[in-house]
Amino acid sequence: MNGPVLIIEDNPQNRYLATYLLEHNGHEVVAVADGDSGIECVQKVLPCLILLDIQLPTIDGYAVARALRRIESIAPIPIVAFTSYAMPGDREKAIAAGCTGYIEKPIDPDTFIATLESLGLAKRSPRKP
Ligand code: MN
Repeated sequence: MNGPVLIIEDNPQNRYLATYLLEHNGHEVVAVADGDSGIECVQKVLPCLILLDIQLPTIDGYAVARALRRIESIAPIPIVAFTSYAMPGDREKAIAAGCTGYIEKPIDPDTFIATLESLGLAKRSPRKP
C-alpha cells in the first residue's frame, strides 16, 4: 500500500520525532494522539503501516490493535507496537493482540527506520535537503 504511516501516540515528543524521521525518509505521516481517533480515521487514511503506542489514554494499544484487526479492509496493514515496556511477555502480548512486531522507546534515530522496514515499511528515497 502507498498510504501514509499512521502514528497513534499520545506523547507529543515521540510523535514529533517519529514523524520527523519518517518524513525525512520520504514517508507521509498522519498522527493522532489516542486510539479512538486512530480507529475512527484508519479506513479513510488507509495507512501503509500503523505505529501504535501501547500506553494510551482511554483505551490501551492492545485494545486498539484488537479493534483494528476486526476491520477487514485494513487486514494486510502491519501494526507495530510502540512502547517503553521492556517487560518479558509484552512482545507476545502485542503479537497476540494483532500487532506484527514491536519497536521500543526511546526512539533510536539510527535504527528506527530500518526496524520499521524490517516490519513491512516500504523503502523510500530520503527527502532532499
Ligand atoms: Mn503513551
